[in-house]
Amino acid sequence: MFRPSTRHNLPSSSSNPALEVKLNKRQSGIGAGGPSARWPYRLNFYEHPPTLDITLEEFETFAIARLRILSHIESLSHRSLPYAQIASGITTYTKTHLPLSSNTARNVNLDEERRRDEIGHWVLRLAFCRSPDLRARFVRTETALFKNRFETDDIHERAAFLRSLEFDWQIVDESEKATYATELRSCMSWGTKDDQFKAESWFKVPWYTVPDLVGGRRVFIRAGMAYVPQSLQISLVLQAFASRLEKALELTAKNLPRLDEDERLGPVIDHLASSFLSGLGASDYQPAEGSGSTSAVTAEMVDDVARKHFPPCMKNLYERLKRDHHLKHFGRLQLGLFLKGLGLPLDEAIVFWRRMYGATMSDDKFNKEYKYNIRHSYGQEGKRANYPPKSCQQILTSNQPGTQDSHGCPFRHFSPENLTTFLLSSYPQLDRGGAEMREILDSVKTAHYHVACTRVFEITHSVKKGEGLGNAESVSHPNKWSDRSREMEKEVLEGIKRKEDGDEMMVDA
Ligand code: SF4
Repeated sequence: MFRPSTRHNLPSSSSNPALEVKLNKRQSGIGAGGPSARWPYRLNFYEHPPTLDITLEEFETFAIARLRILSHIESLSHRSLPYAQIASGITTYTKTHLPLSSNTARNVNLDEERRRDEIGHWVLRLAFCRSPDLRARFVRTETALFKNRFETDDIHERAAFLRSLEFDWQIVDESEKATYATELRSCMSWGTKDDQFKAESWFKVPWYTVPDLVGGRRVFIRAGMAYVPQSLQISLVLQAFASRLEKALELTAKNLPRLDEDERLGPVIDHLASSFLSGLGASDYQPAEGSGSTSAVTAEMVDDVARKHFPPCMKNLYERLKRDHHLKHFGRLQLGLFLKGLGLPLDEAIVFWRRMYGATMSDDKFNKEYKYNIRHSYGQEGKRANYPPKSCQQILTSNQPGTQDSHGCPFRHFSPENLTTFLLSSYPQLDRGGAEMREILDSVKTAHYHVACTRVFEITHSVKKGEGLGNAESVSHPNKWSDRSREMEKEVLEGIKRKEDGDEMMVDA
């Protein structure tokens, strides 16, 4: 694992034009109340590389925070949701994980937010410039993030930001507007009354810069120029954002080999790229020391919790363990760390595993060969590291299971037939020939395993499509599935209790 240590300058412009680093924090204005001259606007086209000192820790954590957002956007885009639901999902998620406030916000360190946003963007450029596929996905998700911020920005700040970009769009003057009034009015789907036409202003841009508007027949084209109304300006802005980013990424790719030789940054960048390739950002799951985020679990409770709250990967492992009284090494590790994250304390874990092995193993063998490994995974032996439960990304991408293994992710590692049979037997809410099952299998076909898993969660927990684990969050960690599932059960039980208490009071009265 990469260990950040001291403060470093990012590679200088002489070695890598993608990143130019010189200013320190004080020069950038960090810590002042309002925005500094370095970041006057909330919106950013990221045209000037950050000239800041940053620590290696910031290099990694800012990039991971942004990666989480981009992965979230990508997974929302694969869930066939209405645009309004996608937009609100992005807004809610960014508020929590990468807030970016307007200049009018109070009690917020605007520069710190903007610095974090900008550095994360530039680090991810390094990770995602490596292949055409990664570049395309990066541009797509960054553009979606920019669009979301553009649409939610303060109207005056947004106008000031656009003025600062100095686009060379040609303004259509009044006489030209009058000449082509009929054609222009026919593009005004929102209303063609005289006052509406008078209020609208128009820009002329080469038609190929607004393919979405041309494809949707939403603009008048003449002499190679598309006439774009002010109200559709966002298309122009997004097109400009995406095409500039595309070009910049190609330039960064040319300079990347030099950065690959850097022992400090190379591994971080590799890790970020592989996280994105797996379709998931780094998960932010943080189990509390020795217990899960809901109440603790005992060996006695595991069977009940498994039946109601285990995600497919863990259900599969647990059922195999119950059937065979044995799991191979990676299976034990995947399930054992998951149970630890769920809140199974060490002494209960020993009781649980001993019971599961049953008579197939002698006490002597268990104590000598297995107990040590359980204690080791709880940080009580060896180098006493507190190993975290595995995230979906780790399960999907490392230690690929062989035919005799049962670890891994069913969505990725089962054949479609086995996956269908397994899901139907594990989650009775699913229907073999139903549209939902087809949807799940379609997501698997396109390698969006966590999207399929999220859909199973929604169906089995009667959650509205698109809501995921709450606030449109996708499954990125098996423990998040279980924690959310247990939380939902707790909320239901508390609701029933409140109702019963209320009924009793009415009877007493
Ligand atoms: Fe488990 Fe994650 Fe696969 Fe779901 S997507 S089954 S939680 S590894």
